[in-house]
Amino acid sequence: MTRGSWHGDLGRSGRRWGTLVRMTDVPTRTAIRTCPFCEASCGLEITLRGDDIVRVRGDRDDVFSHGFICPKGSTLKQLHEDPDRLRRPLVKRDGEFVEVSWEEAFAEIERRLVPIIEAHGRDAVATYIGNPTAHNLSAMLYARTLAQGIGTRMRFSAGTVDQVPKQVAAGYMFGTAVTVPVPDIDRSDYMMILGANPYASNGSLCTAPDFPGRLEALRARGGKVVVVDPRRTKTAEEADEWVAIVPGTDAHFLMAIVHTLFDEGLADAGDHIRPWVNGWADIESLAAGFAPERVEDTCGVEATTIRRLARELAGAPTAAVYGRIGICTQDFGTLASWLVDVVNVVTGNLDRPGGAMFALPAAGGAATRGAPGKGKGFRMGRGHTRVRGLAEVLGEYPVVVLAEEIETEGPGQVRALVTAAGNPVLSTPNSERLAAALERLDFMVSIDIYRNETTRHADVILPPSSNLYRSHYDLLLLQFAVRNVANYSPPVLDGPADGLDEWEIMSRLALIAQGQGALADVDLADDFAITSLVQHAVGDASGPLSGRNADEILSALAARRGPERILDFMLRSGPYGDWFGARETFTDAEGVEQPAVTLALLEANPHGIDLGPLQPRIPEILRTPSGRIELTPPELVADCERLRASIGRGRNGHHLLVGRRDLRSNNSWMHNLNVLVKGKERCTLHIHPDDARALGLSSGDVARVTSRVGKIDVPVEITEAIRPGVVSMPHGWGHDLDGVALGVASARPGVNSNVLADEEQLDVVSGTAVVNGIPVTVVPA
Ligand code: SF4
Repeated sequence: MTRGSWHGDLGRSGRRWGTLVRMTDVPTRTAIRTCPFCEASCGLEITLRGDDIVRVRGDRDDVFSHGFICPKGSTLKQLHEDPDRLRRPLVKRDGEFVEVSWEEAFAEIERRLVPIIEAHGRDAVATYIGNPTAHNLSAMLYARTLAQGIGTRMRFSAGTVDQVPKQVAAGYMFGTAVTVPVPDIDRSDYMMILGANPYASNGSLCTAPDFPGRLEALRARGGKVVVVDPRRTKTAEEADEWVAIVPGTDAHFLMAIVHTLFDEGLADAGDHIRPWVNGWADIESLAAGFAPERVEDTCGVEATTIRRLARELAGAPTAAVYGRIGICTQDFGTLASWLVDVVNVVTGNLDRPGGAMFALPAAGGAATRGAPGKGKGFRMGRGHTRVRGLAEVLGEYPVVVLAEEIETEGPGQVRALVTAAGNPVLSTPNSERLAAALERLDFMVSIDIYRNETTRHADVILPPSSNLYRSHYDLLLLQFAVRNVANYSPPVLDGPADGLDEWEIMSRLALIAQGQGALADVDLADDFAITSLVQHAVGDASGPLSGRNADEILSALAARRGPERILDFMLRSGPYGDWFGARETFTDAEGVEQPAVTLALLEANPHGIDLGPLQPRIPEILRTPSGRIELTPPELVADCERLRASIGRGRNGHHLLVGRRDLRSNNSWMHNLNVLVKGKERCTLHIHPDDARALGLSSGDVARVTSRVGKIDVPVEITEAIRPGVVSMPHGWGHDLDGVALGVASARPGVNSNVLADEEQLDVVSGTAVVNGIPVTVVPA
């Protein structure tokens, strides 16, 4: 809206129906909201005039982000206003999408989905949950309702092209898949970062708004930052040292660090956790076969450098090793993720200030439930896929099998698919095979704001409302925060929204799948969800609500519904909660009495509540059956033979393709916002000058890149910021497919790197796809 323009239909915002008023006459207001776009959880200050966003900037009073914002944060406005964002459900009729009412859309789903379940069973319907769900309270809480309602075991998500190896490693070591230590960056003296580029990503599995500023503060107080990465990323550029490792060899490198620590008498878990460590002698003997001198050629890092880095880690007053996507999505993803924390233990840095520590989240912490210090431990493999026999992990199957489970006929064949906020055609391996498989489905429903490369295959698209119509709380991401905080954001705009909230969509789909019909009351499903949670809590002998009256607790929550009711319950029964009247205050880790946390308290504190720096949590946090840190879980030790056998493997004449993150991009879904994609082409192939010369390529040329499963043509960008023998491309591009309705993205489509990713190339332990370290051949196109 331009200054002084006329606005004749102010509706809910203008409060002057039927009268033309100048928009400048409408007073502005400010809303505070946590940014939902990445894991950094920055506070935003949104200025609105009526329902129009005037400005978005960082919230300087946010207790965690203190005003930091990246270029993506302000695009809440562009996303809200994006004309391609769907506002009405679409149903495909005679091959064309047509807008329909919500009632018609749900009726169509009932008409087509229920017969598939009746004829072929519940496993004939698969689900795929995409990454934005992790940033969405409503979808986070009700994705489980959806999966349970469908009752399928064929669940998939973006996790197996992302973080699952870290969760598996954490599960085996500490007892739950969300017991993931994070670098205590604000108090650390030394940080080693592997396969992560927080200057572009702003951090992942480590919630730290202004990650770059925190790294700079570490260096300013005399600390050191080392980046181990095949690319000289922006983070590496700003660090004290860049170690240009060969892709896929981080586990060898870390094993050599462990070897050196024992070999040179530097290994010491520290008095604080020594009594809680199992497998000390075993890790020493495992590492014995990985002397730096033995793996240096494999890693492409000199043995003297590995030994020096091990000494630096051991000698620093405090240090933390942190690894992320580059070490997860590779041949030895789980081993590398595990060894990050083995090094943290062996250098005495686990669970102490300045080292690698565990958050204590206000809500939803898996390791705040049940008896402290011991548990059932982590399990996977509670089922195997029909075609290839890959193991279940975190309640789902590796997404690399999705295409074959659709294609392969026989009992258990996947015939229908429900996706939510996901674009697996761009995000998962062998995209072209998956796209062809989606066309073979009998029925497909997508919950999505866009008609994109995946949802174009759907029979029904259900668009959730704009972000601004729903509340926000980072339930998942605060499990990995570098400081304990709690921020709640109410909806920025009052209804009626321009779509349904995810919780209503997912609940209704669950009810349809349960045979309750398209008109069933979603409140029934919601009441069932909260009642189950409360009953479980009052029956938990170790929990704060043990033995309490479930009806009393439910009536204390009765004023709310949907995600807010569940969140209020989680906060009030959490470690800082009021335990439903049992206490009014709690004493924080620094001895200060604070009001007990409820959702009402968070509503009264829109900039968030600071719950203090991370505190040591071992042994209380452990949920392993032994009640100890398992340094050498048998499931991971078993894969070490494969690691040992890979020492000395070469590239066989291939280049190794790795990914690349850009500050203005977030996987596939923000490419329709012009403000983020304008300017220089960013979907290019980075290649070292020596390689380019040998191949006869110049900057701006188009290279043909071929892998076992596909080939693409992509513009070349020559740079010294990459190791020779390695090439790099961002993922999430390739928006020029038929049927996509993304005006901006289609005009700057880029090329889909996952056409090259091979569904057969896996991290064996977790089934996670290798998208960093794909062997490819590069020639001029
Ligand atoms: S860093 Fe992440 S959370 Fe912060 S403004 Fe940018 S996209 Fe939003």
